[in-house]
Amino acid sequence: MRKTRANNRGFTVRGPMSERLQVHNVDTDALELPEITAEGFRTSLLHHLQYSVGSDPEHASKFDWRIALSYAVRDRAISPWFRATRTTWDTDHKRVYYLSMEFLTGRLLEDTAINLGIFTIVNEALTSLGLDFHDIAEDEPDPALGNGGLGRLAACYLESTATLACPAYGYGIRYEHGLFKQGFDHGVQIETPEDWQANDSPWNFTRPEAAYRVLFGGHLEEENGATIWVPEQHVVAESHDTPIVGYGGNWANTLRLWAAKPSAKYFDLNQFNAGHLARASFAEALARSLSRVLYPNDTTDTGKELRLRQEYFLTSASVQDILRRFLATHDDLRKLPDFAAIQMNDTHPAIAGPELIRLLIDDHGFEFETAADIATQVLGYTNHTLLPEALERWSVDLMRHVLPRHMDLIEKIQHREIELHGPLEPATAILDNGHVNMGSLAFLTSHRVNGVSALHTDLIRSDLFPDFNERHPERILNVTNGVTPRRWLKLANPDLAALITEAIGEEWETDLDRLTQLAEYADNDDFLTVFGETKHAAKNRLADWLNHHHDIDIPVTGLFDVQVKRIHEYKRQLLNIFWTIARWQRIKRDPSAGWVPRVKLFGGKAAQSYVMAKDIIRLINDVAAVVNNDPDTKDLLQVVFPPNYNVSMAEKLIPAADLSEQISTAGMEASGTGNMKFALNGALTIGTLDGANVEIREKVGAENFFLFGLTTEEVAQRREEPGHSRAAIEASQPMRDILQAVAEGTFSPDEPHRYGNLVDSMWNSDWFLVASDFDSYDEAQTRVDEAYQDTRAWQKASVLNIANMGYFSSDRSVREYMAKIWNIDSAL
Ligand SMILES: *Cc1c(COP(=O)(O)O)cnc(C)c1O
Repeated sequence: MRKTRANNRGFTVRGPMSERLQVHNVDTDALELPEITAEGFRTSLLHHLQYSVGSDPEHASKFDWRIALSYAVRDRAISPWFRATRTTWDTDHKRVYYLSMEFLTGRLLEDTAINLGIFTIVNEALTSLGLDFHDIAEDEPDPALGNGGLGRLAACYLESTATLACPAYGYGIRYEHGLFKQGFDHGVQIETPEDWQANDSPWNFTRPEAAYRVLFGGHLEEENGATIWVPEQHVVAESHDTPIVGYGGNWANTLRLWAAKPSAKYFDLNQFNAGHLARASFAEALARSLSRVLYPNDTTDTGKELRLRQEYFLTSASVQDILRRFLATHDDLRKLPDFAAIQMNDTHPAIAGPELIRLLIDDHGFEFETAADIATQVLGYTNHTLLPEALERWSVDLMRHVLPRHMDLIEKIQHREIELHGPLEPATAILDNGHVNMGSLAFLTSHRVNGVSALHTDLIRSDLFPDFNERHPERILNVTNGVTPRRWLKLANPDLAALITEAIGEEWETDLDRLTQLAEYADNDDFLTVFGETKHAAKNRLADWLNHHHDIDIPVTGLFDVQVKRIHEYKRQLLNIFWTIARWQRIKRDPSAGWVPRVKLFGGKAAQSYVMAKDIIRLINDVAAVVNNDPDTKDLLQVVFPPNYNVSMAEKLIPAADLSEQISTAGMEASGTGNMKFALNGALTIGTLDGANVEIREKVGAENFFLFGLTTEEVAQRREEPGHSRAAIEASQPMRDILQAVAEGTFSPDEPHRYGNLVDSMWNSDWFLVASDFDSYDEAQTRVDEAYQDTRAWQKASVLNIANMGYFSSDRSVREYMAKIWNIDSAL
């Protein structure tokens, strides 16, 4: 029996649809769908087309077919979803709650069909109708509810929890406009709103009964020694659920996204009737703005009040939902840590500590000490960055203005830490100089804090939180990131996946360590020939797609050299494009030197306000315009930058890559996951000792990895040397030639000084050590050219690379979270 708790503040909004009705004589087993066959699926598809979409098969559009197909596939997701929900309730199993401001799920149709194990049958049914699965699947909008790696990680982890039957919910925000859509105008990035929600998504289930009030502002009052929050405003968080099916189709977890809705009382009917239409809707617009946009920057604190409100909106709705679910079958909230683990994906949901404490005290009558203990046992925090500008800090004034009760609790949390463990260093105190450090808050309200690669975790211990590490020696641990092999190999690279299955059998999809068996084939000529064909097929698919969607023609011969990721100075796209310029100059100087033809592929968005990143994009496009049209070089060097990098584009680019560019300044990339996707698809890596590159190199072997560049320690030393940039440039003939060409306007003849600032900053500061690492990078690229000329040796290295990627499955990562952080078992 569910209990309802008296809630004096009415935090739970119960709409008229929420009341549960008693029914009789329902045999739920009889509702199970029959075993799937191509014939039966075809009937179901046509039925949905006619009765759910309301479209006549004779006249149906691709859109109509895609919706009908999604419903027909979705039908099959319902029973694993219900089974998961029922099993979890029936066994009173612990649940994981993954709070993330971003989920970059990618398209769901093909992925769901693959995970349900019905891909072949669906394909057969469609073929019998003369339709092409892949073609229809491409019609699905790619929900851009994230900036990059952090959001994609959340999506991989949710899929892995489902595959491992670990009961889990992903909690996020259903942004009306996800990340902007990127276009180029004469090489300049332009941003337009992405309209992923233009039509209702068939994967969305709106749950009006699961809605919560989220409170803001107001003031505090004292009443009989208790602190009472009298908020000024509230919005309603409405939930939208998507089933995330695990591989094998045994289990599905839920992605619950919150949409902000105004409370009905905000719509002023009197104003409206009096003709003041805009005024009547003002409060309503304000409420909706909470889930309107995704902040377009993953590495800098925007300092925007709206951002803080969004973070609280996500966190409060989620924590209320978590408590509601627990209290439906339990009375004693002290047992919450046995039944719920909340993971904070970076500091964005770090207000979860104070929020949980607040609800325990204000709604459930706990003392602060007990509430803080419970919260700390429930919470875990994943740190994603050491960049100081990316560590969230809010001014105390703003915090007090938006969340006065939380500000009060944050002071108590800091006080408690000092009482228990002694004074805090100013740099890592929660409250410092009128600011709230969200990293410190997250750390001190969590029982586990993890980094995302071995190197990154070491740096958290030594550089970011050394004092906390001494105070809480058990708290920091490492869980190296991973990626799901279902999407990033089976879906994205079907030919290679089929070849692997042919060689080593099935089950590598859920037991990626089995890939080690591929090592036996690394010297097998027949295998390598077919392996080469799969790479060629992937290049052809990419070329077709570029031609069809972007009107770009690329040759499918030559070395495909790919760097796709957010554009950021620390990721050093500049190093890559500089080297490309050097290559162009060299080919022009000596056209017949036997150059290995290269296709240089770039992809990635720059934050809207990040001037240098946008300059880098423009430079890449400017270089492309010159190089691609130069008759002396165009057969040997092509630079290609398709706009609007997202998950779907990654699925096309990564399988086609020969070389993966992972060239960040050492110590700056926390882990990376793009590096893993590439290596899993057989691309060899050119990279620095940064993030998970270190571990990838250890696993695949130094001989299969093109290493270059300064180490983290050397980077720190070099930055201390005055004039290091000038010295490095002067010592390098290629660097001087490159900068001279850029400075002279070789790539911007209509505006010769376009890159003046960029060139100046290279000579005078070069914080990211592009010049310092150039010669080493150049030398590694020469090794790449040499290696690529021996096709068989390259293929062998590529196969050995894949064979050793088992460790980087997100299943392994999630198992580590389950064992070391969440303390949860699989439910099956
Ligand atoms: C994997 C992925 C990323 C992360 O790439 P990194 O190279 O690790 O920065 C970013 N965006 C998309 C669309 C991805 O699929």
